[in-house]
Amino acid sequence: MIEADVAVVGAGIAGVSVAAELSGHRSVVVLEQEAEPAYHTTGRSAAMFLESYGGPDVRALTAAGRAFLDAVGTLLTPRPLLWVAGADGLDRLAALAREQPALVPLSPDEAVALCPALRSSWCAGALLEPRALEIDVLGLHQHYLGAARRDGVRVLLGARVLAGRHTGGRWVLDTAAGPVAAAAVVNAAGAWADPVAAALGAPPVGLRPLRRTAAVARADGVDRTWPLVSDVAETFYFRPEGAGVLLSPADETPSEPCDARPDELDVALAIERVNAATTLGLRSVVTAWAGLRTFAPDRNPVAGPDPAAPGLWWLAGQGGYGIQTAPELARLVAASVAGGDVPAAVSVARFRRA
Ligand SMILES: Cc1cc2nc3c(=O)[nH]c(=O)nc-3n(C[C@H](O)[C@H](O)[C@H](O)COP(=O)(O)OP(=O)(O)OC[C@H]3O[C@@H](n4cnc5c(N)ncnc54)[C@H](O)[C@@H]3O)c2cc1C
Repeated sequence: MIEADVAVVGAGIAGVSVAAELSGHRSVVVLEQEAEPAYHTTGRSAAMFLESYGGPDVRALTAAGRAFLDAVGTLLTPRPLLWVAGADGLDRLAALAREQPALVPLSPDEAVALCPALRSSWCAGALLEPRALEIDVLGLHQHYLGAARRDGVRVLLGARVLAGRHTGGRWVLDTAAGPVAAAAVVNAAGAWADPVAAALGAPPVGLRPLRRTAAVARADGVDRTWPLVSDVAETFYFRPEGAGVLLSPADETPSEPCDARPDELDVALAIERVNAATTLGLRSVVTAWAGLRTFAPDRNPVAGPDPAAPGLWWLAGQGGYGIQTAPELARLVAASVAGGDVPAAVSVARFRRA
């Protein structure tokens, strides 16, 4: 029997970040079902840190983590975010400008000057987040994993959590790598967080995994200093990547928790939409992938102790913001294991009221 103060289920960015935050004060074991960590959503993101993306609670979590990322230092590359609108997106652009006055309004000509591939006939308006960043996601994951391991955290791969019971004031988990006992369990299982809760006898919160597709396409004349260009109506985004561009149709297709695969039609849709808004003339795809962005019904993360299950903490439902919110969510959840509070807007308690 492996014993620890805390067992963390999942070795994506959520699991390793909370393990690192806990490791100075508690003995921690991380249980990962796959043979490698970061195999699922964490390894499949668009790698952006966008303070103007998501609802107000998500934006606050993102902004609160910026100092941590700045302090690590080597993980960030400036990549401004250009929100763009076609003629039918101007109302949304105006609403975004009202909601977030820190965004810089740009004329269509100024937007095209920042990304000359944008068609001036398509772009009707734009807003700029000048301090947005690209994150080295696997570097951040390694940063947390290294810190955790240096503090004695054990990471068990191929250790799928199959079942668990709370008995005698502690959890006993049946895993594919043998039994594990811990006073506290942190459910950081990404798209599987609800099934993991069910395996522990806890009620679900109603998480929905939504598939999102991304691809890298060859493109001539891409300047690596171009911003991330994102349609304010969220029908596409693209940014420089390697010898071309990374692009997405910003799809949200409901899915079971699984090893998500891209659908050719979604890749074609991304190319069609980016080609309509730009002169890039994309045709040839270098690689494509998909990942599951998992959302709670109100699209806020799900964090903190579960009032319906003693000794069970959640760190799930990060949707499309799990990399950029990881530093602050990990800090909050680790502090809550030590008895602190998590903000009501992200607490799992909001799903447990009668
Ligand atoms: C195309 C795309 C673009 C994105 N772009 C961004 C972006 O620019 N910025 C941003 O911040 N976010 C972005 N995201 C979202 C971000 O990637 C996720 O929010 C984040 O990776 C979630 O991390 P996680 O650790 O919760 O999940 P995961 O990385 O999926 O980790 C969960 C882990 O739990 C393990 N697990 C599940 N069940 C069990 C079990 N029973 N036993 C043991 N282990 C188990 C899984 O194997 C998995 O490794 C994007 C996502 C996608 C798909």
